[in-house]
Amino acid sequence: MTGNKTYVRTTCPRDCYDSCGIVVVKRDGVVAKVLGDPNDSVSRGALCGKCAIAYNGVWRDPAVRLGHPLRRTGRKGEGRFEAVDWDTALAEIAQRLQTIVDHHGPASIWHTHYTGTCSKIAGGFPLRFFNRLGASEVEPDSICNLAGQLALEYVFGTAVLGFDPRSARDANCLLLWGVNPSASGPHAHKHWFREAPGRKIVVDPVRTPTAEAADLHLQVFPGSDAALAFSMLHVLRRKGLIDRAFLSRNAIGWEEIEHQLGDCTPEWGAAQTGVPAAVIEDAAGIYGRGPSLLWLGQGLQRQPMGGNIMRACALLPAATGNIGKAGAGFYYLNGSGRKGIRESYIAAPQLRREPAHSLSHMDLAATLEDSEKARALFCWNINIAASNPQQTRLHRALQRDDLFTVVVDPFLTDTADFADFVLPAASFLEFDDIVSSYFHLTLGAQVKAMEPIGVSLPNQEIFRRLARAMGYGEPELFESDAEILAKLLRDVGFSGGFDDFAGKGTLELWPEPVIQFADFKFPTPSGKIEIVSARAEAAGHPRTPLPIVDPRPAGDHLRLLSPATPWLMNSSYGNDPKIAAKLGPEAVTLHPDDAAERGIADGDGVEIANETGRLAAVARVAAVVPRGTALSGKSRWPGGSSARANVNVLNPGRKTDMAESSAVHGVEVTIRRASA
Ligand code: SF4
Repeated sequence: MTGNKTYVRTTCPRDCYDSCGIVVVKRDGVVAKVLGDPNDSVSRGALCGKCAIAYNGVWRDPAVRLGHPLRRTGRKGEGRFEAVDWDTALAEIAQRLQTIVDHHGPASIWHTHYTGTCSKIAGGFPLRFFNRLGASEVEPDSICNLAGQLALEYVFGTAVLGFDPRSARDANCLLLWGVNPSASGPHAHKHWFREAPGRKIVVDPVRTPTAEAADLHLQVFPGSDAALAFSMLHVLRRKGLIDRAFLSRNAIGWEEIEHQLGDCTPEWGAAQTGVPAAVIEDAAGIYGRGPSLLWLGQGLQRQPMGGNIMRACALLPAATGNIGKAGAGFYYLNGSGRKGIRESYIAAPQLRREPAHSLSHMDLAATLEDSEKARALFCWNINIAASNPQQTRLHRALQRDDLFTVVVDPFLTDTADFADFVLPAASFLEFDDIVSSYFHLTLGAQVKAMEPIGVSLPNQEIFRRLARAMGYGEPELFESDAEILAKLLRDVGFSGGFDDFAGKGTLELWPEPVIQFADFKFPTPSGKIEIVSARAEAAGHPRTPLPIVDPRPAGDHLRLLSPATPWLMNSSYGNDPKIAAKLGPEAVTLHPDDAAERGIADGDGVEIANETGRLAAVARVAAVVPRGTALSGKSRWPGGSSARANVNVLNPGRKTDMAESSAVHGVEVTIRRASA
C-alpha cells in the first residue's frame, strides 16, 4: 500500500457478545480498510466474516448508503422518494408531529428502536427527544430477551450481573445452554470457548459449530429444557452434589424443588428431551463437581415457556453452590450499570410530561392497524419489516396512508420503503461514542475515522435538530456529544478525557476477574436466591420453576427454529451483495428422516407454511437438528425475495409465558415439496 498511512482504533458497536477492537487504516486521509485490531484481546486482528465484508463494502459505499433526507413520492411500500434538505425534512416532520399531538395526543406517536448502533449515545440519546415528546415506546427487549430478564430477576434479583468471562480460567466446566457463539459471538467461540481449560458442555437443539467443539452436546428437543434441568438436578442429588450448606445460607425454597425431583430420573429426562440418559448423567456430574460457569443464551428463552425454562436452568448454579467463588457463576447479560454508566442520565426520563405507554413487539402490527391507537411511527436503530413477527400483517399496516412514518437508518431498508421521511443516519465509523460490551466487563472507544456519508448525521444529532424544529428548549435535548462523553467517562471513574480513552481502545474496568456475587447479597426482596418467588406468584406465575415441556408438534407439523446465522447481524448486512452471495437462497434444514417421510431431497424446492404465512425455500437435509424440527436463519431482507418475505412471515407473534416477549422458537410449520 503506497501513500501516507494512518490508523484509527475503534470498537464495533453491533449487537454481538464480542465488541471487537477495530483498526481503520487510512491512506492519505481516506479510509482504505477496516480490520481487526491486532492489539485487541478479543478480535486479535480479525473481524468476523460479515463485518470484514460489510465494513469494507456497503457500509462505506456512497452508492448504497443514504446520503440525504428523503421524502416519499410514491405509494407506501414502493420505496420512491425525492431528496430534500435537512431543514425542509425536519420542519415538515415537526409540523406533522405537532398536529398529531394537538389532535390525538402524543401517546398516539409510537417509536421503536433496538440494536442497530449499540453505542451508548447513538443508542440512548434519542430517548430524550421521545421522552420530551411524550411518545409511546415499543418495548425494545420484547423482540429478543425480555422473558429471560424477568425470569432471572425473580430468581437472583437481576439479569445483568453475569459472570466475568475471564473467570473461565478458573472453571472446570463451561455449560452453554441455548446459545451459539459461533454465530452470535464468533470470537467468544473461536478464542474464549476453545481456549478455556475446563470441560465444555453445550445444550442446543442444533449441532452448531460451538456444539461440535464441545466435549458433550446435549441435543435437546426445543421446549423441553426445563425437564432437562430437573433431570440434571435429580442426578446431582443422587450423586451428593447438591450444596446444602450454600442453599441454606443463600436461597429460599429449595425444599419445594426437591420434592419434585424423585420422578425426574435421567430416563424420564431422556423421554422428555431426546437427550440420552447416560449423557444427562455425565453432564450433571461434570457440572456439579465444578467450579462451573453457566451461560444462559437468549435463544433459550424465545420459547413459549421461556420464562419457566430460564428459572429451571437457574436452579443449577444455586443448587450446586456455583456462585460466589472463582470459576463459578451464571451469565445472561452484563449491563452498563455495573460499569458506572447511568442509563437514566442518557435517556433523561425527567423530560417526560405525560404518562409512559409501551407495548410488546408482538402487538405492534395490531396497534399500527388501528388509527385510534397509532397516528405516527418512528423507527430508529431497527428494521421491523424484516425482524418482526406477523410480517404480512405488519407490512399491510405500514401501508396506512394516515400513519405518518419516519425511519432513521444508514440504508434504505424494507421498513424505510414504507416511510414518509427517511433520515440518513451516520455509521459508527463517523462519530465518537462509547461501546459497553454486554459480555466482557469492558468499555470500548468508538472513534470517528471518516466524515459521514453525504449529509448523514449521527442519531443523536438528528434528534437534537428535530427537538429544535419542535421549538423545545430543555438543555438536555441539546447536550453535545463531547459533554456527554466527558460525563460518562467521569461516571465510570476514568481520569482522562475521550482522547486518552481513544488511545487505550478498550478499558478493562477491573484488573482481575470479578467474582460474581462475592458478597452473597442478591437484589431480591429477601436478599437471597428466590427459588420460590412471591413476586412471580403475585404476577400470576408458578411459585417455583416446574419440570414441564411443550407438547410435541402434532401430525406432520415441525417446530421451526430461526436463530442467528454467521452472515447477518440481526438484519444488518442483508443488503451487501457479497453477504447475499454467502447466504445463498432462502433455505430450511430438515432431519433426514423427516425429509424422507415427505419425499424431500437435499436441494429440492419446498414450501414452508402455517396459518400465518408461507415461504418458499430450498431444502437442506442434515442430521444437525432433531427429528420434528426444522431450521431456517433469521432476518434476511424481505425485499431480496419476490414474495417480499423472510422467515418472520411464518411467525404469528406468540408471547412467552413471561414479559410478553417473543416465542419465535415455538413456531410450528408444515413443509412440502414445491409442486414445480
Ligand atoms: S459483529 Fe461481533 S464479531 Fe463481528 S466485528 Fe462486530 S463485534 Fe466482532
